[in-house]
Amino acid sequence: MRVYNFSAGPSMLPQPVLERAREEMLDWRGSGMSVMEMSHRGSHFNEIARNSEAALRELLGIGEEYYCLFLQGGATGQFAAIPMNLLGERRKMDYVVTGSWSKKALAEARRYGEVRVVASSEQDKFTTIPDPSTWQIDPDAAYLHYTANETIEGVEFPFVPKTDLPLVTDMSSNLLSRPLDVSQFGLIYAGAQKNMGPAGICIVIVRQDLVRDPLPVTPSIWDYRLQAKEGSMLNTPPTYNWYVLGLVLEWLREQGGVAAIEKRNIEKADLLYQAIDRSDFYHNPVDPRYRSRMNVPFTLADPSLDAVFLKEAEAQGLVNLKGHRSVGGMRASIYNAMPIEGVRALVDFMQEFERRYG
Ligand code: PMP
Repeated sequence: MRVYNFSAGPSMLPQPVLERAREEMLDWRGSGMSVMEMSHRGSHFNEIARNSEAALRELLGIGEEYYCLFLQGGATGQFAAIPMNLLGERRKMDYVVTGSWSKKALAEARRYGEVRVVASSEQDKFTTIPDPSTWQIDPDAAYLHYTANETIEGVEFPFVPKTDLPLVTDMSSNLLSRPLDVSQFGLIYAGAQKNMGPAGICIVIVRQDLVRDPLPVTPSIWDYRLQAKEGSMLNTPPTYNWYVLGLVLEWLREQGGVAAIEKRNIEKADLLYQAIDRSDFYHNPVDPRYRSRMNVPFTLADPSLDAVFLKEAEAQGLVNLKGHRSVGGMRASIYNAMPIEGVRALVDFMQEFERRYG
């Protein structure tokens, strides 16, 4: 019995992907071995790695002027790797702070140079995005960093900020959920474990001309230039995770790509937000213009019912709805792999729960 898993990550994978992985577990396409047993230098894994990069490039329309790297250390590793690789002579970086994850990225960057907060929504409890016309961008900074989707607070940028600086964005929780014009960015990064695959692999899409001399302290495994030269295999990569990520990308292609999945994501998010807004029992605090399509936090009017809500939801196969400890309440993460039936089941449960306890 599979449940509807609303976890923020690691999260649901498309069932056909898991079935395919199961079919290929003992013998990957006539090789006589599992992907887990393959040499990362061998021709079989080479094919897996190249195909997944090609699929990613095709899905997002990534130009030749960008490297696509498949790295370890998660998005948290990139919080450090980005300043290490992109600071160069400039030594200064600009950050927009719209939630817990951008705050963490900023704290890590502080270890490597001078960081400025160009705008913050902390005084609004991270429920909105500061008006871009008020952002104080430093023209001498090495780059401008923002978090496209704040996984904890459920705040998502519906626009791409305009700046002359190289634009760097954390898309850990919304990459591949909607079309994207990659050419507007200097660097895009995303941990795989939400929308793309299992944990343990992080995608970095970076414009080649930005990859210059890294800071001398940079570990080789996070040196973009070295990793690009080595096809992201400077050391042994997480081969099985990379393979499953490739299966997810193939699945996404079969779904019609990012434009088709965006339609479904809009439909799912609308369904859930409408259910929340229709009721006085449930509440979402985020500025409606910036509500995330991926992570939907909500509270109950009576928080003493939280535990009962979670228990009854779980009994109906709706799991991992507990909100992040810093925000409380509930959070439903509805990434690409969450079918609309899962959101319908959640909405039905919420209405029924309100009838009984509201
Ligand atoms: N950024 C965002 C937006 C995230 O949601 C997360 C994970 N929840 C991270 C960064 C950290 O990712 P990782 O655990 O892969 O380091």
